[in-house]
Amino acid sequence: MVTIEEALGIIEDQKIDLKTEVRPLEASLGYALSKNIISPFDVPEFDNSAMDGYALCGLYQEYKLVGEVAAGDSKEVSLQNGEAVRIFTGAKVPENTTAVMMQEKTSVKDKTLFLDEMPKVGQNIRKRGGQLAEGQEVFEKGHMLNPPSLALMGSLGRSELEVFSKPRVNIITTGNELVKPGQPKLVGQIYESNSYAISGVLEQFGFEHHQKTQIQDDFEATKAGIQTALESCDVLIISGGISVGDYDFVKQSLEENGVKELFYKVFQKPGKPLYFGRKDNKFVFALPGNPASSLTCFYVYVLPLLHKLSGYRRTGLPTYQFPIKHGYENRFGRPSFLKAAILDGKVEVLDGQGSSMIQSMAKGNVLAFVDDGEKLTAGDLIRCKLIS
Ligand code: AMP
Ligand code: MG
Repeated sequence: MVTIEEALGIIEDQKIDLKTEVRPLEASLGYALSKNIISPFDVPEFDNSAMDGYALCGLYQEYKLVGEVAAGDSKEVSLQNGEAVRIFTGAKVPENTTAVMMQEKTSVKDKTLFLDEMPKVGQNIRKRGGQLAEGQEVFEKGHMLNPPSLALMGSLGRSELEVFSKPRVNIITTGNELVKPGQPKLVGQIYESNSYAISGVLEQFGFEHHQKTQIQDDFEATKAGIQTALESCDVLIISGGISVGDYDFVKQSLEENGVKELFYKVFQKPGKPLYFGRKDNKFVFALPGNPASSLTCFYVYVLPLLHKLSGYRRTGLPTYQFPIKHGYENRFGRPSFLKAAILDGKVEVLDGQGSSMIQSMAKGNVLAFVDDGEKLTAGDLIRCKLIS
């Protein structure tokens, strides 16, 4: 048995050779850069207007109107003292522009522009290099490309990016009692549901699974299923069969497939019978079968590994602290992850904390954490990971 910190440390310490690939900009969301990015030019590349209005030369309240510059115009315009041109957002400001006045504060009569107020030097001008200077580092290797990052890469003219490849994931569910939804079910059987949460959470965080297999609680079948699944993935996620029951064959089957245990059992609730192992450059998580346990373990342990294998500089879900709505005492005798909801800035621990209970998790939006024996009173800060 390891502590939560030890388990996370073991995951973090895994040495791996990351693969890289070149991807089109539009297909790079959620990938991490495999090289530092340097700005090839100043951003913006020229002084430009932050407003629709008038570019002014000198500081007056009246100007002679001499023309117009629209966004995208390449013509060279130069102003003389006392002159103004109509200008639009993003247009290159003419040479000698002192300030831009927003059009709402102006009026025009014949060819004369009148301002409602005196302009200030530099007002409404976005300066060349104001965001980035040529040669400046934009992102470090390992930066995960979120939507604004894609916009920035586009604005630097990049149509392709060198990124770390993402791991291939396979899923195995185990259990004689499991029936696929939509199929008839006998007394004593239940519908298989974990694989939908696991494939869903993979998709939510930008990962794909290639194969999903359902295996009966049979040693030979489990061993063969694991062998096949391992051939075509970097990370194998197994649900169920990892406890100490007579029908739990996963651990032994992993051993027989040459997977080396890195930890087994974590001092936590839910998700105590969590297994993590490695065979060469392939990793295996065997998650406890209880639906809330398996998903909790995914957020806390599987996601950091997937991020690490994807070359992310920052791995796993960040922990934030929010005030708790009502007092809460952890009487589970183990550090605990709680299904909770944050609303109006306050965290409410939800009813239905059992490992098999998934409705509370579905209705909540955070995974809260309380240490063994920790006692919180209303308003105390509670640690949370945002899960939806
Ligand atoms: P296990 O870890 O295999 O002992 O399973 C623990 C509990 O989780 C049992 O009540 C199982 O029926 C349930 N369970 C295991 N796998 C699944 C699954 N894929 N979908 C829904 N429930 C499951
Ligand atoms: Mg089972």
